[in-house]
Amino acid sequence: MKKAVLAVTLAAAVAAGSGNMPVWNGNTQKITSKTYMPVSASKDKKKTEEKEAKNSAQSVLEQAKIMYAQYNYDEAIKLLKSQKDFEKNKDYMDIAAKCQVAKASLVEYPIEKITHVFFHTLVKDTSKAFDGDSDSGGYNQVMTTIDEFNKIIQTMYDKGYVLVSLHDMATVNKDGTMSRGKIMLPKGKIPFVLSQDDVSYYHYMDGDGYASRLVLDENGEVKNEYIEDDGTVSVGNYDMVPLIDEFVKQHPDFSYHGRKGILAMTGYNGVLGYRTDIAYKTKENLQDNQREFLEKHPDFDYEADVAAAKKVADAMKTNGWEFASHTWGHKNATDSSAEELKADNERWEAYVAPILGKTDTIIFAFGADIGGWEGYSSDNPKFQYYKSRGYNYYCNVDSSQYFVQLSDQYLRQGRRNLDGYRMYYNPEMLSDLFDVSEVWDSSRPTPVPAM
Ligand SMILES: [Zn+2]
Repeated sequence: MKKAVLAVTLAAAVAAGSGNMPVWNGNTQKITSKTYMPVSASKDKKKTEEKEAKNSAQSVLEQAKIMYAQYNYDEAIKLLKSQKDFEKNKDYMDIAAKCQVAKASLVEYPIEKITHVFFHTLVKDTSKAFDGDSDSGGYNQVMTTIDEFNKIIQTMYDKGYVLVSLHDMATVNKDGTMSRGKIMLPKGKIPFVLSQDDVSYYHYMDGDGYASRLVLDENGEVKNEYIEDDGTVSVGNYDMVPLIDEFVKQHPDFSYHGRKGILAMTGYNGVLGYRTDIAYKTKENLQDNQREFLEKHPDFDYEADVAAAKKVADAMKTNGWEFASHTWGHKNATDSSAEELKADNERWEAYVAPILGKTDTIIFAFGADIGGWEGYSSDNPKFQYYKSRGYNYYCNVDSSQYFVQLSDQYLRQGRRNLDGYRMYYNPEMLSDLFDVSEVWDSSRPTPVPAM
């Protein structure tokens, strides 16, 4: 996907430098630069073109190197061979040869042995999250601190873990049936799926030591904003998305074919820290904290928030991130009727999908699934509804190392919470991933409240 963006940028750059742009010659008529370009300008133009060709060769080489690092050998070879000067370029030939060799040693990894771990919004300031107010016990149970997260990811990387997508584990056929995916990795590498829930920066978290939203910085990179005590706004890597982006930049081999993670998104407080739900526009059925937000921000511009959220989401998708429905209203799908889930999903499709894009994945809120461990039967009305709306991938919460179920209708996977509760009460259940004693953030109050 990065390749497509780059291609567009290069095409635009080449078009801009091609001499087709009319220039003003200082007199009263327009002339083309091609006809009347002075010698010095022509020289500059040639220089620019040479520079662009060099840049383009550089970026092809860089892209191919990243593809090589991310086990994407076929794509790397394809990209290199599509270059006109392939056979004259020693760098291209070298990488293509390395890809051929590496490809021969790949082994298929069984999808039934793929674990899936998830986080909530990461705690940036533990003194605020764990300050003893009415929310801090819950945060201590279900949240993970940035410090813990960084150690977990580093440890998993050192052990050979590699980010893959649910869409690598199974593919959807044109008729809606599912087929087993084929994940090819070097021996010793361990694919896993990463997700994060509720990346909405809900109102109730304001002032509790979390980032306030995701933004694009001046370089077009996805970063977080964090509101400091004095009201100033810091921009940095304060939550999972920019932390993983940065980690993969440093360690491209942590990602399989450029995959990152999947974000499970509700809609009732908007998405990614933008107040994009329709209630902020109609001002109907507002919850107290939504009304309070609108009162505090009289200059709030609904359309601007929607546009900004979409820009961030688009950039994230280009960077390898995916989105799932977490239901619009954080619904318990076990307890809700099929009709209630339908009404809820219609809101997701109306007010979330236009921003994040249509998704074929549902990550159940509370981990509350629509069927038992045996699988979804064809007469399950909740499954029938979701499948009819294009959902093919279903995730619950399950503490076992592997829970993978593939039928010709769906892929189902259990997810493991790497949070304060699990680390405190069941460290042994995480020993395949990391050693809790090396990760635990000592600023957490203990005991972690029991569920
Ligand atoms: Zn949730």
